Amino acid sequence: MGKNRGRLYIISAPSGTGKSTVIQRLMETCKDLYFSVSATTRPARPGEVHGVSYYFITHEEFEKHIQQNDFLEYAEFVGNYYGTLKAPVLARLEEGKDVILDIDVQGCKQVVAAMPEAITIFLVPPSMEELENRLRARGTEDEEKVKMRLVRARAEMLEKDNYDYVVVNDVVDKAVEEILHIMGCDIKPE
Ligand code: ADP
Ligand code: 5GP
Repeated sequence: MGKNRGRLYIISAPSGTGKSTVIQRLMETCKDLYFSVSATTRPARPGEVHGVSYYFITHEEFEKHIQQNDFLEYAEFVGNYYGTLKAPVLARLEEGKDVILDIDVQGCKQVVAAMPEAITIFLVPPSMEELENRLRARGTEDEEKVKMRLVRARAEMLEKDNYDYVVVNDVVDKAVEEILHIMGCDIKPE
């Protein structure tokens, strides 16, 4: 008999909350979990690797994917396109692997409309002041972009009650533990 279809998890959070940090920990911990690498037109940050963090592509390439209907969802976020390629996600789910999407609230709505079985988790910062501190301390955006991300963050926070679960990322270990509990994933052997 074939394996059961995998589960689809969506994690959203205002930029700077710690989504990437938490997801990295989940990927290190869970067996048979696949991280969906998004495509984006945003430039790579220092340390980000093409094909691992994102597929860094041009506007023209992104628009070609839109025309070819390659995306499960896509959205514009602070001046750039971000999108989830459909084929690898559907293939992993068919294989019985759980899949995790790190996408914004607009993308989450699109995926839930198409796949209502998706399990949605919204990660929140302990406070908006702390969010601002984290975003600035990361040092990856200039002042104008930080401000735009903070404006966006306030609007995104209003959407948190539309998610199945809300998890506070105060201490990383605690947030990771809470999400592991929600996911009930098999733990990788040491
Ligand atoms: P996101 O992916 O949500 O934009 P990141 O994972 O890049 O956020 O985290 C933003 C910054 O905050 C990073 O510098 C990261 O090291 C830091 N960070 C993440 N989680 C915590 C936490 N619980 N406490 C303090 N700093 C954190
Ligand atoms: P960042 O530029 O900080 O990596 O990401 C900015 C925002 O885009 C975050 O909220 C992140 O979750 C979101 N994002 C990343 N990939 C995708 C995607 O494929 N689709 C959508 N809709 N949002 C994405």
